[in-house]
Amino acid sequence: MNEAQIIDGKAIARRIRERVALEVENLKQKNGLTPSLTVILVGEDPASQIYVKSKEKQANEVGMISDTIRLKADITEKNLLKLINELNSDISVNGILLQLPLPEHIDEGKVIFAIDPLKDVDGFHLVNIGRLWTGTKASIPCTPSGCLQLLKETLGDLTGKRALILGRSNIVGKPMAALLLNENCTVTIAHSSTIDLADRCRESDILIAAVGRPQMILGDWIKPGSTVIDVGINRIDASLNEKNIDGKPAKQLVGDVNFEEAKLVAGHISPVPGGVGPMTIANLLRNTVIAACWQMGIDEPNL
Ligand code: NDP
Repeated sequence: MNEAQIIDGKAIARRIRERVALEVENLKQKNGLTPSLTVILVGEDPASQIYVKSKEKQANEVGMISDTIRLKADITEKNLLKLINELNSDISVNGILLQLPLPEHIDEGKVIFAIDPLKDVDGFHLVNIGRLWTGTKASIPCTPSGCLQLLKETLGDLTGKRALILGRSNIVGKPMAALLLNENCTVTIAHSSTIDLADRCRESDILIAAVGRPQMILGDWIKPGSTVIDVGINRIDASLNEKNIDGKPAKQLVGDVNFEEAKLVAGHISPVPGGVGPMTIANLLRNTVIAACWQMGIDEPNL
């Protein structure tokens, strides 16, 4: 039996970062502009701290200016909004990223919608959501953008493909649906109230899994030869014998798809880790360069 081809997200993301780095150098030489990204981190959430460090490191590696503003978890909403207004009017800041989640006393929507849509490199502002759904130039959320790039690198033209997106969050599922519609796919969005979920999955040429349930999608849910993109990032206990240096049971990273079963049925599959994950930060850097060009009235580069 032929096994699925593995979609190498690390390699595809590396190529995006290389193009971004070239464009950053080009903007420096030709326009005297060094794109800059400011990340706002509120509180001490350990996962957020790791993500932010990685964003900083990769932004520096492509030659951008990167700044992280670390704020105490008890900052008031008013003061956070004030900071965002200051960053909006600071012409040396091209991209603003608000690391989520925020502490409960802050209204996430209110703060996100305070970010200037031209600096909204996460693509979460209502203006950018509206632009995406109307097929106009928009800042596009980084993870679904990465899924689309994986699909296009793998399949080329997506016209006419039947796509099922499992998950309807504002940051993955819904923007993913808009992107695939814009590529002329026939799109279904499934969620926790979907009836006959396995049957719906089995009808799809493209299956995007963004549920946050470890290894939920089994091999027999998958249409033979189809393309499976696994967005899920779940930490589960590793095998009984594995221990960390500190003696605690080791954790293993798995996706929403049962990879071992799925690879025997699918034509192409993205692994976890090494699939969608690396694409997200690569697209954050890409969005920052594009945002800098928009703000300077420079033609958008083809990244
Ligand atoms: P959310 O929790 O916001 O959304 C999950 C979605 O899955 C919801 O629409 C929910 O349905 C649906 N769902 C949950 N359980 C079931 C079920 N049993 N059957 C059918 N549908 C179900 O998650 P996110 O979109 O934020 O993230 C999804 C996954 O992607 C997570 O593992 C997350 O860690 C990962 N992720 C990875 C990123 C990356 O960079 N690779 C970036 C962002 C997320 P309903 O709406 O009905 O509740």
